[in-house]
Amino acid sequence: MEPATIRKLDEAVVNRIAAGEIIQRPANALKEMVENSLDAKATSIQVVVKVGGLKSLQIQDNGSGIRREDLGIVCERFTTSKLQSFEDLSAIDTYGFRGEALASISHVAHLTIITKTRNEQCAFRASYEDGKLKGEIKTCAANQGTQISVEDLFYNVPMRKQALKAPNEEFQKISDVIAKYAVHNPQTGFMLKKFGENATIRTQAKSTVQNNIKLIYGPSIGKALLKVAFDNEILGLTVDGHITNVNFSLKKGIFLLFINHRAVESANLKKAIDQVYSLYLPKGMAPFVYLSIELHPTNVDVNVHPTKHEVHFLHEDEIVEQIKEAVERALLGANASRTFYTQALLPGASNPDSVKLNDSSSDKSRLDYKFVRTSHNDQKLEKFFGINISRNASFSGTDKTEKITPRREKHFKDTKLTSILNLRKSIEDDCDRDLRKIFSELTFVGVIDRTHALIQYDTKMFLTSTKVLCEELCYQILLFNFGNFARMDFANPLPLLELATLALQDSESGWTEEDGSKQELAERIKEILITKAPLMREYFNLCISAEGNLESIPIVIEEYIPSMAHLPIFLLRLATEVEWDDEQECFQTFCRETAMYYARVACTKNEQEYKWEAEHAVYSTIKQYFIPPKAFAKNGSLLQVANLPDLYRVFERC
Ligand code: ADP
Ligand code: MG
Repeated sequence: MEPATIRKLDEAVVNRIAAGEIIQRPANALKEMVENSLDAKATSIQVVVKVGGLKSLQIQDNGSGIRREDLGIVCERFTTSKLQSFEDLSAIDTYGFRGEALASISHVAHLTIITKTRNEQCAFRASYEDGKLKGEIKTCAANQGTQISVEDLFYNVPMRKQALKAPNEEFQKISDVIAKYAVHNPQTGFMLKKFGENATIRTQAKSTVQNNIKLIYGPSIGKALLKVAFDNEILGLTVDGHITNVNFSLKKGIFLLFINHRAVESANLKKAIDQVYSLYLPKGMAPFVYLSIELHPTNVDVNVHPTKHEVHFLHEDEIVEQIKEAVERALLGANASRTFYTQALLPGASNPDSVKLNDSSSDKSRLDYKFVRTSHNDQKLEKFFGINISRNASFSGTDKTEKITPRREKHFKDTKLTSILNLRKSIEDDCDRDLRKIFSELTFVGVIDRTHALIQYDTKMFLTSTKVLCEELCYQILLFNFGNFARMDFANPLPLLELATLALQDSESGWTEEDGSKQELAERIKEILITKAPLMREYFNLCISAEGNLESIPIVIEEYIPSMAHLPIFLLRLATEVEWDDEQECFQTFCRETAMYYARVACTKNEQEYKWEAEHAVYSTIKQYFIPPKAFAKNGSLLQVANLPDLYRVFERC
């Protein structure tokens, strides 16, 4: 068979194909033109669209305009006023950088430019085809700036045009581009409309990013915004942005990313941010995120793909990590209470469907679990205390035992009980912001003894009272996690009668002859606890059987096991110290007693284990969720013992 003749492709066809790579849809052309207008320092950019931009796309700006002598060549490839040599590529700070946009558009559409510079008396009008001027440059009347009309986009590329989606969808993409750039460029007023209709986007010049987000994306997003901002001199990095808090979420996330003022995409960064939010938002929900990142231009590789969307940059992993941390800080700082809600799920968690099965409007429905944990920790528990941590998923209808891995869960059942909401609110209202910052950024240094530890914040070293902090932490978790506790099961349920008797024998109980016989008292304690069992089971997963056996206690801090030595006194105090009759007082005193118990460490607790728990369970939970009461600034729970720069100075002198 004769080999097919190899022919050189017609140059126009080659250009058309290349252009099609850059301009895949009307929104791509528009983005390039908007960037050109911004480069020309326009303070007003108006866009009018016909049939999703396929019929016509017109953009009018009030920027510098194009000089008459340049009009002949602006649409030739590699013609740009912004770049002289290849080396300049690394130093670009304008949007355009390859002089390819107008050329490409002229290969796939009818392009007309009307432009007027300040120095010119009149405006000029020029039309282009395949990169070349078509016909004469004519004078006309117009204001300063540039109007570019792109008509019949893809008229000569039938395949691509066919592949395009409906005009409405194209208009949506165009709208996304304008929305993004309007948010990022509040100094410039933007207007977008379909021909003959009212504007769908309109922002004023000299606005602010926040205002424009509110205006374009709606007030509910506007209200939920948190600021993220930091810079890092070493990396030559500046980050500025607005993100929605964890109480807000969208079915479809919105992520506006600008790197050096160019709208781009970064899959790595997006993934990292989504990951942070996934800890806080309901499953499948997503945030609104606007981030503007400035990097030294030499560190950005913009030349990845002709569409210039997906970018990579030097030190990407490190930068992504820093941004991730900043986002997390912003989320945590803004809403300590909600972060408790996630803690709430820490131990456990139902899957979302189960939550739905449940009547979430009622506190009567119970969330408990039946997953048997199989981490190394449980073996440890069984060995030392003979208890299993398990979850009893009674409502889910599945009886099968599943392994669970420790991870934070996203769904939890909120309560509508005013008493609990009141107690939570008073914790939030009493939060000391300065302390909150210290605790939320603490670095754990080490355990000093069973009651003290050292933590570092910034350049300062603090001595902390672990027990005081732990008690308050547990108290808060008990309230914020109300109704959502996972349970620690005792391998053999413990008879209350025996526990109460043990407690009465302990001098701590303060028992005297006058109180009556220990046996009778123990019976009474057991009775009281059995009467209150349904409430404790329902809300705290502290389970007592009808026969008076203690079956389980709640997991308050993940990976933290309260000391069994203090369990008898705890139960005695539950019977005697909790104000069972008044709802709010009942929950408050119950949570306080339980917190006191959980914060106690028996000297029988193995040293190794204590240290591990203090660092990885107690202080790491404090760091994430603790809401320090104002009183903690003065109660000795935190004492500054050293300021590191002072110490360094001391060392220098030596
Ligand atoms: P680039 O932006 O990479 O330089 P373009 O093809 O997008 O390449 O634009 C080519 C040139 O046309 C620009 O360098 C600029 O000088 C001029 N130009 C394009 N659009 C405008 C505008 N709206 N206002 C002023 N000049 C413009
Ligand atoms: Mg350009």
